Amino acid sequence: MTEIFNSTVLETLNGPSLVQVAKNVFETQTQLNVFEKLWATWYAYMQNDTLATGLMFFLTHELWYFGRCLPWYIIDKTPYFRKWKLQPTYIPSDKEQWECFKAVLRDHLWLEAAPIWTFHPMCKTLGIKVTVPFPGLQTMLWQWAMFFFLEDMWHYWAHRLFHYGFFYKYIHKKHHRYAAPFGLSAEYAHPLEVVSLGAGTVGFPILYAYLTHDLHLFTIECWVVFRLLQAVDSHAGYDFPWSLHHFIPFWAGAEHHDRHHHYFIGNYASSFRWWDYFMDTESGPEKKIEREQRVKARLSKKVQ
Ligand SMILES: [Zn+2]
Ligand SMILES: [Zn+2]
Repeated sequence: MTEIFNSTVLETLNGPSLVQVAKNVFETQTQLNVFEKLWATWYAYMQNDTLATGLMFFLTHELWYFGRCLPWYIIDKTPYFRKWKLQPTYIPSDKEQWECFKAVLRDHLWLEAAPIWTFHPMCKTLGIKVTVPFPGLQTMLWQWAMFFFLEDMWHYWAHRLFHYGFFYKYIHKKHHRYAAPFGLSAEYAHPLEVVSLGAGTVGFPILYAYLTHDLHLFTIECWVVFRLLQAVDSHAGYDFPWSLHHFIPFWAGAEHHDRHHHYFIGNYASSFRWWDYFMDTESGPEKKIEREQRVKARLSKKVQ
């Protein structure tokens, strides 16, 4: 059953195909905006909220992740874009892209099989809403901003931990196979890393819903999409004049994360630059010189 409409309304929306249900929803539910109508169509068509939520999250992950990687694959094949490649001497081969694609897809299939069935019951327990209409844009905007901030903090510290001996050797090393990353390599990682860094993405919405009982599943769905785009783009390996960090100076982007893969140390955060700046873990030889100069200056001050 679905809780999105009561059974009387649901009967009037019923149809033999997804297109027919969509037509019925768009014709009768005129009070809803287009996103709410599409959302309601999916739940009304599926008639099983557990499967509807589980499948929607799985398909969203696959379509946005691989869908976002496709333009980066085309850009990698197009010599015109080389001038903006951060490590231009290394262009991923078709074989590397294919191997990476297969490994990531295989991990998605086995890691996400169980959550397809368990995610919706968990949402119900936590009071996460699935009904329409959605919350106001202002509410969603500040919740997305909060999730971006918290995930970035989690990512910074967990990623720093992953660079310590045991954790690096047995878990994080897999992700560092590519010193010059490309879009598809964003989620090329040990399953334990996928789970622990993924906890920063889904864990905070879960905690927030547990504490406040005021969160909509659509807000989480959009947040997951934003985070996927951020992860793929930061691995893409290009710094264009129109890349976001040129307009928002604290945004990390590919220029930030490419250095992490190139130098292996520093630049541990995901979305923003502030943690690496304030914790003095910025990556690259010029940052290392700056750090050494600061230490020298401090020491000579002490001597005086
Ligand atoms: Zn790393
Ligand atoms: Zn990476």
